[in-house]
Amino acid sequence: VSIASAAVASAVLRPGTAAFGAERARRLVPVDVAPESVTRTTVGLRPYRDAGFVLRAASLGGKTVVHNYGHGGGGMTLSWGCAILASELALQTEKRRAAVLGSGVIGLTTARVLQDRGFDVTIYARDVPPETTSNKSGAQWSPTSVFSSASATDAFRAQYRRAAELSYARYQTLLGKAYGVRWIENYDCRDEPRSSFLSNAETTPLHDLYPQIQLYGPGEHPFPTRYATRFLTMLIEPNRYLRRLQEDYLERGGRVVVRELHTAAEISALDEPLIANCTGLGAGTLFGDTVLEPVRGQLSVLAPQPAVDYLTFTQRGYMFPRSDGIVLGGTFEHGATSLVPDQATIARIVGVHRAFFSAMRAG
Ligand SMILES: Cc1cc2nc3c(=O)[nH]c(=O)nc-3n(C[C@H](O)[C@H](O)[C@H](O)COP(=O)(O)OP(=O)(O)OC[C@H]3O[C@@H](n4cnc5c(N)ncnc54)[C@H](O)[C@@H]3O)c2cc1C
Repeated sequence: VSIASAAVASAVLRPGTAAFGAERARRLVPVDVAPESVTRTTVGLRPYRDAGFVLRAASLGGKTVVHNYGHGGGGMTLSWGCAILASELALQTEKRRAAVLGSGVIGLTTARVLQDRGFDVTIYARDVPPETTSNKSGAQWSPTSVFSSASATDAFRAQYRRAAELSYARYQTLLGKAYGVRWIENYDCRDEPRSSFLSNAETTPLHDLYPQIQLYGPGEHPFPTRYATRFLTMLIEPNRYLRRLQEDYLERGGRVVVRELHTAAEISALDEPLIANCTGLGAGTLFGDTVLEPVRGQLSVLAPQPAVDYLTFTQRGYMFPRSDGIVLGGTFEHGATSLVPDQATIARIVGVHRAFFSAMRAG
């Protein structure tokens, strides 16, 4: 029995009500979390703004700049939608030659959509995959940790909704091994009969983009919490995905110039009359955005376990089963800039998940 989104958002669901799960969760294989199975730990800095991402046109020394940056913890998810909206701004000019600044997921998708709209595109970037923040993402399809509800305007929320819808549709055209995108269940496990993941300012208006929501009560699921809310999402394999986007871009005649840019004057001196600014955290210094801040995230990756075919989300961390390994994460450190993995955090994230999955019922 699927429960209505209003019920998920409500504070409490009581066992025995129609909205309460009537089926048992299917069989789920627990993750084997051994500290010696950690193959690598990565650190990325999410480009976050309380007011949400910047997607608008501006002028710079006679050129048009379309800004598309600051997607926080949801840039992989929102990339296609924001790229399409950025291309609509670009099409309002007469210019058909574009410089895309940045080669993370935002730059690559913006470049691809501009190509599809008839633009001749050159990417300028300091780092290219696999050295971008985008390669250090989870990456679940979920436009979350993108803005703070106290700071986001109604106009931003409308743009966010549109970008999420467009991305949701576009990602479904990329499902399969070629791009490394697949449907998968996520279980939000907690002791209260509600999903905090699905009942915040970001996710509540988007329940239609999280299919098959179902709440399981005590005894109906294998997790060591009283309740688990299941929903369907997409999982993206960042390394495979970004490599494929690069190939698509190059196949269509795109050029890449590896170059660090330092000033607005340097940018306005580029040959191309149209600039798409997709520099993520780099936009702070390049364009003087003082509210853009890093939110540091650390992931520890265990050797792959193909039998694990679901995600988990708890108050203490998340687990994403990718083909390149079991990703354990869930850290959000505002303002932190170190790219060096923190050993205490590795021990904590691994320990939390070891305790969680050891207590999970198998079969
Ligand atoms: C641990 C972690 C987990 C995450 N999980 C998810 C998730 O599950 N789902 C999701 O949707 N998102 C997730 N994210 C967020 C996502 O990774 C980001 O929102 C996204 O990568 C931002 O993409 P971007 O292209 O703007 O930035 P980047 O990937 O950082 O790309 C920026 C580009 O701009 C270039 N650049 C910057 N400054 C300059 C300069 N001065 N000159 C030239 N080039 C420059 C860089 O070299 C790079 O090419 C996660 C992030 C982290 C860290």
